[in-house]
Amino acid sequence: MSEIACRLDALRDRITSACAANRRSPESVRILAISKRHPADAIREAYAAGQRAFGENYLQEAAGKQDALADLGVEWHFVGGLQSNKTREAAERFAWIHTVDRLRIARRLSEQRPEELPPLNVCLQVNISRESQKAGCPPEDVAELAAAVADLPRLRLRGLMSIPAPADGIDAQRTPHRQLRELQERLQAAGIAVDTLSMGMTDDLEAAIAEGSTLVRIGTAIFGPRPQP
Ligand SMILES: *Cc1c(COP(=O)(O)O)cnc(C)c1O
Repeated sequence: MSEIACRLDALRDRITSACAANRRSPESVRILAISKRHPADAIREAYAAGQRAFGENYLQEAAGKQDALADLGVEWHFVGGLQSNKTREAAERFAWIHTVDRLRIARRLSEQRPEELPPLNVCLQVNISRESQKAGCPPEDVAELAAAVADLPRLRLRGLMSIPAPADGIDAQRTPHRQLRELQERLQAAGIAVDTLSMGMTDDLEAAIAEGSTLVRIGTAIFGPRPQP
């Protein structure tokens, strides 16, 4: 068994235990393998071990891997920062975008999504820890942005995503995840049909699952430490 296959097995066990501790079904949590800075061959190994959804942060780096892996049925997710001059490439190359944080970007993605492809799945990135340097919509603006994005014809609003400030210990880690879940519940109460909470990474996936994550974004626990750029 390859090293990546072993790590994926261990990760699936970790998720199963976290689900059991919270009386959740393990099928309710999907793994998004974050492959930034890892080579196409690493993705190929994870794919051979059953992983299908992969997330990338940089468009140019992703394009090279997408072309090299065009023979596989990878579901590509974009989880990096998105400038408005790059939306066309993102709309053409990905099935999901997790980092929509303003209406201008969402409108461009909807206009530029190729007609022959299904609607683009999007999550709204929320700056849940209110960090001044970080991307993401402020929590108080999420409801308005979600209502506008839900109306765009070529996008399918799936839910919310966040990258909280690092915290030590599961209790501290749970707080921002709980806040994101509560925002999601408010959208649902307002009649917006969202089904995805994209939260939890290698160091906080148990806290994220305890608070209702449906999609954990995992890099290090699958691929090992990232090569330096
Ligand atoms: C790199 C990255 C991850 C994965 O981080 P790990 O700690 O390696 O699991 C998840 N989400 C985003 C947005 C990332 O950029």
